[in-house]
Amino acid sequence: MPELPEVEIAARRLDAALKSARVESVLAPGMVALKSVTPPLEALIGMEVTGVRRVGKMPVVEAGIDRERLALLIHMMSAGRLQLFNSRASLRDRRSRILIRLESGDELRLREFGTKQRAWGKLMQADEVADDEMVATLGPEAWPAPGVQVLEEILDRSGHLHPLLRDQRAIAGIGRSWVDEILWEARLSPFKKASELDGDEVERLHDALGVLGRAIDHYEEAVGETVPDKMPMPLQVHRREGEPCRRCGTTIAAIHYAERITCYCPEEQTGGRVLADRRLSRLLK
Ligand SMILES: [Zn+2]
Repeated sequence: MPELPEVEIAARRLDAALKSARVESVLAPGMVALKSVTPPLEALIGMEVTGVRRVGKMPVVEAGIDRERLALLIHMMSAGRLQLFNSRASLRDRRSRILIRLESGDELRLREFGTKQRAWGKLMQADEVADDEMVATLGPEAWPAPGVQVLEEILDRSGHLHPLLRDQRAIAGIGRSWVDEILWEARLSPFKKASELDGDEVERLHDALGVLGRAIDHYEEAVGETVPDKMPMPLQVHRREGEPCRRCGTTIAAIHYAERITCYCPEEQTGGRVLADRRLSRLLK
């Protein structure tokens, strides 16, 4: 799933490529992809794209000038991609959710891999984005990292670190991949109670949020003009079950769930304990 660093680089690349592009036609082949009714998607036709930005894990495509300014807020869910193509999608392409065709011949596509239709877009007046429930309920952005004091306030609630850091209402932008990286970087257990971190641990967690900025820097180097389907994610621990920890050499352990995996270094994060899957999946609920 695209998280803050992946969406940030996608937004930067699309912003550079789409500025001043004029919308020629629009299409929403996804049955449930367009969540808004007014204004209709067709309201974008003839408008100039003014920019693409990111809020949390969501890209926002803005178009129009002066009083006629619209914004398409997009949520890619677990398998969506927002990409620019220099040709038009085949009408038989079942991955297409929302297509924005430009006069240049390019096409901005919200696509979704897999069979589920979850990704969505919502068209609204540009000045309404901040008040949209998906945006208004977001916690502070995880990058640039909030101050230590703000982070302390974020942590001052019930629950374990792993789900709390993925809760967009607590802190925005972190998902299943980067939470593992952040906790590994901070040498903290995914199951540590957030409210029980001492001052030193909060500092470590704060510093560890820096991995997001470093990932963006990495993408700036590694990603060309167009963002690929599969991002070259600079992961140290996530998806590295069975490999030696790059810091201490201990074998990286993992806890498997139905749709996700949590990876950690037992030596440095859980006091040498390899946590049993079943017990933990119950604990995490
Ligand atoms: Zn280690």
